[in-house]
Amino acid sequence: MSSTPESRPGRHSIAIRLTLFHALFFGLVTTAGGILLYHLVEVYIVDEIDQDILRQKNDIVRTFQTDGPASARTQVAADARNGDKEDYFVRVSDRSGRLLSASDLTGWPAAGTLDALSRDLGPGEQRFDTLDLADARRAARVVTAALATDRFLQVGISMGDSVALLEHIRRYGLIILATMLSLGAAASWGLAHRAMAGVQAVTQAAEHIAGGHYAERVVSAGQGQEIDDLVRTFNRMADRVQTVMQEMRQVNDHIAHDLRSPLTRIRGLAEAAVTDPTIGEEAAELAGGVVEECDHLIGIINTMLDIAETEAGVQHLQVEPVDLSALAAQAVDLFSGVADDKGVDLDYRADSPPLLRGDRRRLQRALANLVDNAIKYTPAGGRVELSVGTDGGNARIAVRDTGSGIAPEAVPHLFERFYRGDESRQLPGNGLGLSLALAVAHAHGGDILVESKLHAGSRFTLVLPFEPELGRA
Ligand code: ADP
Repeated sequence: MSSTPESRPGRHSIAIRLTLFHALFFGLVTTAGGILLYHLVEVYIVDEIDQDILRQKNDIVRTFQTDGPASARTQVAADARNGDKEDYFVRVSDRSGRLLSASDLTGWPAAGTLDALSRDLGPGEQRFDTLDLADARRAARVVTAALATDRFLQVGISMGDSVALLEHIRRYGLIILATMLSLGAAASWGLAHRAMAGVQAVTQAAEHIAGGHYAERVVSAGQGQEIDDLVRTFNRMADRVQTVMQEMRQVNDHIAHDLRSPLTRIRGLAEAAVTDPTIGEEAAELAGGVVEECDHLIGIINTMLDIAETEAGVQHLQVEPVDLSALAAQAVDLFSGVADDKGVDLDYRADSPPLLRGDRRRLQRALANLVDNAIKYTPAGGRVELSVGTDGGNARIAVRDTGSGIAPEAVPHLFERFYRGDESRQLPGNGLGLSLALAVAHAHGGDILVESKLHAGSRFTLVLPFEPELGRA
C-alpha cells in the first residue's frame, strides 16, 4: 500500500531543540567561565605590575623620609640611569607641575596628563592609573604618591608584554571557545539523534501498523532504559492490536461462513418460487427481487471468504509460472466490451514480458478489480491504460486512468474492507475489490502503490517480486 513519506527533523524536532538548548547552555557557561578566567588573569597581571612599581616607589619614599629630598633626588637620578627608558620612568614634580627630578620622559605620557593624576592627591595618599601609550608598548601603569605637601613622586612601567599576553589569551580563548562549542553541539546532536532514533523507529512501526501491516514490530537496540521501555510497551500493544484484528476478522469470516448456507437456501426457495406458476405474478416478482438481493449478499460473502483465504497465506495459493503480459492482455480483452459501452478508451502496453511464479487465478482477479475500478471511475471520453514492466527485482503492472481521482484524505482508507468513496455510492460495488487485490499482492510478497490526483486520474501499480517470500501477511 502507498507509504507515507518519512519525516525529516524540522524546527520542532526534539533532537534539534536539545542540540540548540545544549549548545546555548554550554556556550553561555563556557563564555561566562572564559570571561571570569580572563578577568582573573588580568587582575593578577595588573596586581603583579602594581607590586613592582610600588616597590620602586617605596624605595624612593623611604630614602626621602630617612635621608631627605637631596638623597631621594640622587636615587631618582641613579634609577633613571640604571633603568631602561623604554620600560620604566621616575618623575618628581610639585603641584604647579614644575619638574624637580626625572628620568628620560621621551615616549611616556605628556606632562599635562601626568600632572593631572596628582591634582587631587592629599598628603600620604597614592593612586594607580593605566595610561595609553602611542607606540608598540600600548599602555603604562603609573603609581602617583604624595612625598610631601608639595612633592609628588610618579613611577611608571610599560605594560606592553602584559597587553600582548592578554591579547593572546583573548584571541586563542575565542578560537578554543568556538571549537568547544562546535564539538559540544556535534556531540549533543549525536546523543540526541541516537536517543530519538528509538522514538523514530516506534513512529515508523506505528505508521506501518496503521497502514495494515499488523505484524510489524520494533527491534530494541539498547538505546537506554526509557526507550527500551517504550519499545517493549509499544510491541505489547502491537501484539494486542494484532490479536484483536485477527479475532475480529475470524468473527467476520465465521459470520460470513455461517450466513452463506442459509442465504443459499433462501435463494433456492425464492428461485423455485419465481418459476412456480401457482403463486401469481406479483409474488413471483417479489421472489425475483429476493433472488437478486441474495446474489448480492452471497457475492459479498464469497469475496470476504476469498480475502480471508488469501490472507491465510501460501498454503492456499496454486503456484505456477504466470506470464503477466498475457494476464494483462486477457484483462483488456475481458473489459473491452464494458469500456466500449461506456466510451472509455482501454489500452495496453508491455515493455518486457515478465514471467513470475504465482497464483494465476488470484492475480487475474486482483488485476480485474483494478481495471474494473479504473473504467468505473472514468467518465466517457476518458482513457485507461495498462502497462507491464519490470523494475529491479519486481514486476509491475500499472493501471492508469484519467478518471475522477481520489481525495488525499481518502487514500489511507482505500484498502479497508467495505470502504467506498462518497462519490462512488451511486455506482455498483461493495468496497471489497481493493481489499482482495491487496490481499493477493501481499500473499505474493508484493504491494499495491497508489498515485492519484483529484479530478485528474489515478494510477494503481501492482508490484510483485520475482523471488517472493510467498505468504507475507
Ligand atoms: P468499490 O466496489 O467501491 O469499487 P473498491 O475496494 O474496489 O470498492 O474501491 C474502494 C474505493 O476506492 C471506491 O469506492 C472508490 O471510492 C475508490 N477507488 C478505487 N479505484 C479508484 C479509481 N481508479 N479512481 C477513483 N477512485 C477509486
